Amino acid sequence: MTVYDVVVVGGGNLGLWTAHRLARRGFGRIAVLERGWAGGGATSRSAGVVRQQGGSETAAKLGKLSRELYLRLGDELGLDSGFRETGYYIVAETEEEKEGYLRLVEVRRAAGVENGWVEPEEGRGRFPDLNWDRFVGATYTPDDGYVHPQVAVRNATCAVLFDDAVDLFEMCEVTGVGQKGGRYSVETVQGTFEAERVVDAGGPRGARDVGRMVGVEVPVMAVRHQIVSFPSVAEGAEHPFPLVFNVGKGYYWRPEEQGVLLGMSNPVDEADETGRYQIDFDWDYYEGLRPDWESAHPALGGLPVSRAWAASIDYTPDHLPIIDEPADGFYVLAAGGHGMMWGPALGEKMSGLISEGTVEDLPQEDIELARFSREKDPNRVEDTIALPFPKK
Ligand SMILES: Cc1cc2nc3c(=O)[nH]c(=O)nc-3n(C[C@H](O)[C@H](O)[C@H](O)COP(=O)(O)OP(=O)(O)OC[C@H]3O[C@@H](n4cnc5c(N)ncnc54)[C@H](O)[C@@H]3O)c2cc1C
Repeated sequence: MTVYDVVVVGGGNLGLWTAHRLARRGFGRIAVLERGWAGGGATSRSAGVVRQQGGSETAAKLGKLSRELYLRLGDELGLDSGFRETGYYIVAETEEEKEGYLRLVEVRRAAGVENGWVEPEEGRGRFPDLNWDRFVGATYTPDDGYVHPQVAVRNATCAVLFDDAVDLFEMCEVTGVGQKGGRYSVETVQGTFEAERVVDAGGPRGARDVGRMVGVEVPVMAVRHQIVSFPSVAEGAEHPFPLVFNVGKGYYWRPEEQGVLLGMSNPVDEADETGRYQIDFDWDYYEGLRPDWESAHPALGGLPVSRAWAASIDYTPDHLPIIDEPADGFYVLAAGGHGMMWGPALGEKMSGLISEGTVEDLPQEDIELARFSREKDPNRVEDTIALPFPKK
């Protein structure tokens, strides 16, 4: 029997950051139990976009704090943070989109994010390679960007490995969670761990199952999300270029080495219940959407694909996170599909909940688990700047 103060189930971006931030608060001994390799789940398969331009104040705050924490951790380790600041345009194709986006500019500013509206005429001067004829404008934040997922995983793993308070166990699948005398006993393929507190950070392929081990329903689902990368851009085109997100069409793109990384969600894809991270790539969908981005950014026209993958992305019904303690000493942390742009902040907030008993600076109704079992409030504004699409 191995005894810890906190056992974190799942060594993805969320679990690692939770352990790291808890250790920073001096909160006892922490074990991270990971079924495979640290970061080997959704985290390392992601596009790494770090966007402060959320669709709600909560989203904007989490993005802003995460960006700061990524940079701080790089400094503390004496390593590169993996964060690249490119600026980020979220383009609007319709007047209706524009109206909503203008409202969001105010919401983000209230959260301390530097966000503005760019008319096509101004956009043509700033980013001439983008076909502004397609858009009625865009919101823009200069200090948004992306992390290289591999570097983000390396840094978060180093942070926990270098901290005496944290032990990371790989190949350590959790198979059951029981309760005995006010403590949890966590059964794993490497034996039993005992702790007063357990954090469910199992991600798209585990959070729901781990919750069920203690009778807590965790509405974290998984669905296909696809990425392609191109080795280059057209000769003479700007590179690196700012990130661009066409929310209505469900795709975004960013620079990647000398080329491009482009991510997409298909609105008709159903929740995937196979339990796999690696799922089939839908080439028909890719080909169908390709003319759209080639017309938006002609420098991407006709490029060969250098890599393509499809993986399970997590989502919650309202695209917002879960940071909660639904049963005494049992905590749930989920990113709602935004675990790269919110992971560090979610780890920080979870560590605050564990050590102080509260989550500061975020409205309870945006983070608590109970919101999903209440009748839907028709006045509640949903986060519309989000992928994947499904609202099932
Ligand atoms: C293709 C793709 C692109 C994406 N792009 C972005 C993006 O650009 N920006 C963004 O913010 N987000 C993006 N995401 C979403 C983001 O990757 C996830 O939200 C984030 O990685 C979730 O982190 P996590 O720690 O919750 O999950 P994971 O990284 O999946 O980690 C959970 C871990 O728990 C482990 N686990 C599960 N069950 C058990 C168990 N019983 N015992 C032990 N261990 C267990 C798993 O093995 C896994 O390693 C993308 C996702 C995909 C798939």
